[in-house]
Amino acid sequence: MELTDAAADEVFLVDLLIGSRIVCGVRQDEREAARSRLRGLRSGYHSGSTGEWQAVRAARETLQAVVRGQKRPSSLALLLDGVSYRPSVSDAGVQWRLDAQTVRAASVRAVLAWDVLRRTRPGRLRPCQNPECALFLIDHSKPNKARWCSMAMCGNRMKARRHYERTRTNS
Ligand SMILES: [Zn+2]
Repeated sequence: MELTDAAADEVFLVDLLIGSRIVCGVRQDEREAARSRLRGLRSGYHSGSTGEWQAVRAARETLQAVVRGQKRPSSLALLLDGVSYRPSVSDAGVQWRLDAQTVRAASVRAVLAWDVLRRTRPGRLRPCQNPECALFLIDHSKPNKARWCSMAMCGNRMKARRHYERTRTNS
């Protein structure tokens, strides 16, 4: 199995985290968009076999808990059990390939993408601050202060709620 580019794996990781059963506080069309992205991934990015899908779902639950701080990163160990990198050399130089069962390829990539983010952009992957939202965000902004999965959705909703609470206590 070959390594894909990090950007694609990052997109896959976020799609994977989003694709959970509860997406409270999020409009139906956004939820549907997340679902169809996952369907696309299921048929295109990886093989889409039932076994692979089960591995992806297991990885998703553990990764969600780790990103939310509910589980320790070491709980991901089982997902990488028996996985290794193998070097091969050609005239172009040494290339490293991920050696894992096909059925586990996508879940392994998601865990590795999580680790790349953790190392290269610590704290940038986090849950949305809206307590009613189950989505995640990767903060690409310079100040690193993004709090919402989407300003248009949760950002405006939380601002409106704060405004409502302020005006209520002032009157
Ligand atoms: Zn949100």
